Amino acid sequence: MGVPGARDGDARDGTFDTPIAREALTAVQVRNIENEHWPSPPTTRVLTVANQKGGVGKTTTAVNLAVALAMHGLRVLVIDLDPQANASTALGIDHPVGTPSTYDVLLGERDLGEVIVPVAAARGLSCAPATIDLAGADLELSSLSGRERRLAGAVAAHLERDPSLDYVFIDCPPSLGLLTLNALVAAREVLIPIQCEYYALEGLAQLLGTVEMVRSYLNTALVVSTVLLTMYDSRTRLADQVAAEVRKHFGELVVASVIPRNVRVSEAPGYGQTVMTYDPGSRGALGYLQAARELAQRGRIGATVEQSVAGK
Ligand code: ADP
Ligand code: MG
Repeated sequence: MGVPGARDGDARDGTFDTPIAREALTAVQVRNIENEHWPSPPTTRVLTVANQKGGVGKTTTAVNLAVALAMHGLRVLVIDLDPQANASTALGIDHPVGTPSTYDVLLGERDLGEVIVPVAAARGLSCAPATIDLAGADLELSSLSGRERRLAGAVAAHLERDPSLDYVFIDCPPSLGLLTLNALVAAREVLIPIQCEYYALEGLAQLLGTVEMVRSYLNTALVVSTVLLTMYDSRTRLADQVAAEVRKHFGELVVASVIPRNVRVSEAPGYGQTVMTYDPGSRGALGYLQAARELAQRGRIGATVEQSVAGK
């Protein structure tokens, strides 16, 4: 279709390796996926996007997967749990101090349903925004009862009222503090984005240890279900080495589609958008579209930490 004779891989083996040919190929692939139907999960999938490193693509992953799934008719909620509120920004939601937000939910002052707002990018997509107030939440929560179960309680109550939600993505701050802990207790799946860079695996043991602790004591349903390679730069051998290492450790949990480093992805939040609407024909958008499709089609697989590290 579109590019005569073009097949997956042609661009790589050189036959079609010109910028225009690559773009045309990407555009055709995007258009083909656009018309597909993606299945609803049997029950709501709640995924926490976590990695205590900053800048690895947590927020970008949460919002782009959410938009991609919603564009395919699924009902998706993004819960922003980072005081920086980057997910809220990328979804075009204004969030000055005083905006009803996840901060009010954690403190028990509002139900989740009272802070959720619709997102213009796609029908069926909504967001519980964050505000900078969350920056003090760690401290404020520490004296409250059930401090690590606050979000879990709010999410469970909301899903009882609105069981038709297909996906909930919780975007975490870059730390393993009380906010991330709340996210891990509220979810059934952990999605770990890993940047294809030096030191990519550093700190993962600590993250997996925290997940295991939560699973043992606070949330037995929790599994690491998904590992996504982000910001992949095909020009460096290092990226390939990191990808191979991650696949060795996490096996089938690693999504086959890798997200390329693509400047359109990083431009989009400046326009209050994700790359899915900002430049749907870009390689970044295609990467997230393919990753979202895989997530939807393979359903909830998962492993406990011991299994995931053994690559089983
Ligand atoms: P985190 O939430 O883990 O801190 P972000 O999702 O905010 O990470 O990403 C960090 C920075 O990298 C942001 O400026 C973002 O726009 C940019 N970025 C993320 N993914 C990509 C990508 N695939 N290509 C180019 N830039 C990206
Ligand atoms: Mg972030």
